[in-house]
Amino acid sequence: MFRDHIEFLGTTIKRGASLSLDFDVARLHTRNNIQVPVFIERAKKDGPVLLLMGGVHGDEMNGVEIVRRILRRGLNKPDRGTIICIPVFNIFGFINLSRKFPDGRDLNRVFPGSAKGSLASQFAYEFTREITPHVDYVIDFHSGGADRVNMAQTRCLLSDTDSFELAKAFGAPFIVQSKYIPKSIRESFRKRGKTALLFEGGKSLRFDEEAIECGVRGAVNVMHHLGMKKGEIEPPAPSVIIKKSKWVRAPHSGMLHVKVKNGTWIKKKTVMALITDPFGEFERKVKAPFDCYVFCVNISTIVNRGDALFHVSVELEEEGE
Ligand SMILES: [Zn+2]
Repeated sequence: MFRDHIEFLGTTIKRGASLSLDFDVARLHTRNNIQVPVFIERAKKDGPVLLLMGGVHGDEMNGVEIVRRILRRGLNKPDRGTIICIPVFNIFGFINLSRKFPDGRDLNRVFPGSAKGSLASQFAYEFTREITPHVDYVIDFHSGGADRVNMAQTRCLLSDTDSFELAKAFGAPFIVQSKYIPKSIRESFRKRGKTALLFEGGKSLRFDEEAIECGVRGAVNVMHHLGMKKGEIEPPAPSVIIKKSKWVRAPHSGMLHVKVKNGTWIKKKTVMALITDPFGEFERKVKAPFDCYVFCVNISTIVNRGDALFHVSVELEEEGE
């Protein structure tokens, strides 16, 4: 699995190398070249190649901040193997504070891309060709979309032992069963025999200190688990493993007043939220349909009937099963 020579974006990465490269993505109509900075640290001793990436969705700042802190603290320097950091993957979206690519596409739904496809698809194609083949493991850092606040969690298919082991080593408060989404980066890596883990924490356009530090710690835990860092670490507390989950949706339209704390276990019929009109006439309770963990909370002030309010556990898996 390990290699002596790593050829990466046209550059030979020697043992002990520490460098940053620019991944050429596209040329805009304004003649500006768009480049994605890539930071590479290779130890003298060979070992796995771990890719840490943030900002696949350009408005999800927590992932960008997690990778930035890893770089800033020098945690990306392995004792064995190679760590590649891409703090801002979707640089277009990041500039515009937008989830999407300028062509309106979701970068996480166009993989592995095509040379003649949309702009996002071309970008995915270049990434799949230039970067994916060199990587053994990837952690892709995300946040909840719109106003949905995710408790720090990793997502994987529990039956996929490699990524489930990585999720346990990461040690986020929750591990959530999640199928491979067609054309996602995670699926694209998996199809090429790589192990991919997705992290979710906080919400878009906001920093969430707890989620950010959990992400940094988790990445370091994974480095230890893969034998890329020397020394012992305190094993992370076991994660709550959610085998099956569902969304509690808004039964009415109106103003949303959340009454439960994200990440907590609640009993059936607990009042999770009130939905009201603005006139003091109408006030309805949203109750827990069963005993469950709440691991994502919508903090929109106004919701429409059918909107996703709370992501809750339906079935848990006991550790060691
Ligand atoms: Zn995302």
